[in-house]
Amino acid sequence: MIIDIDLMPDEGVQVCQEFDFFSMELVDENAVFLKPVSAELYVKKSGEDVFIKGHVSALLSFVCHRCLTPYEFPVDSDFDLVYFPEELDEIKDQLESGDLNSYFYQQRQIDLNELVLEQLNLTFPYKSLCRQDCQGICPVCGIIVREGLCSCEKDETDPRLVKLKTYMKDKR
Ligand SMILES: [Zn+2]
Ligand SMILES: [Zn+2]
Repeated sequence: MIIDIDLMPDEGVQVCQEFDFFSMELVDENAVFLKPVSAELYVKKSGEDVFIKGHVSALLSFVCHRCLTPYEFPVDSDFDLVYFPEELDEIKDQLESGDLNSYFYQQRQIDLNELVLEQLNLTFPYKSLCRQDCQGICPVCGIIVREGLCSCEKDETDPRLVKLKTYMKDKR
């Protein structure tokens, strides 16, 4: 959906709809959509600047970076953006270095599909993990440590485990 800056009513435009994207449009190459993306947007013009408040929600499947297991990644994110006319080139450098929520519109149009896709991509973690403390795959036997099937001796033993083992020995 394209918003035409010059045709926008003074009271603004409200959009609430589902967006269809291809999984290959996502920045994470292993991410897959489990549900369509839905977004609510409120677009309002003030002089030549356009303010957009919105919310994006989605459900994706990610692959854990450490254990390679797929897991669900829900997105529920608010954003607050401002679009300046592209003629404001002089201040571009200044803005781009500082404010991530500032954009420039081109040809007096804003492509909402592009906007929603970008906001969605921005919610992705730098490294996708099924859980923050995912132990990954055992370098010795190749089994996912989380499943508890691996009994290999590790070089780096958790100090808490050592304590527990000592405690167990004493009990015997
Ligand atoms: Zn994992
Ligand atoms: Zn192992």
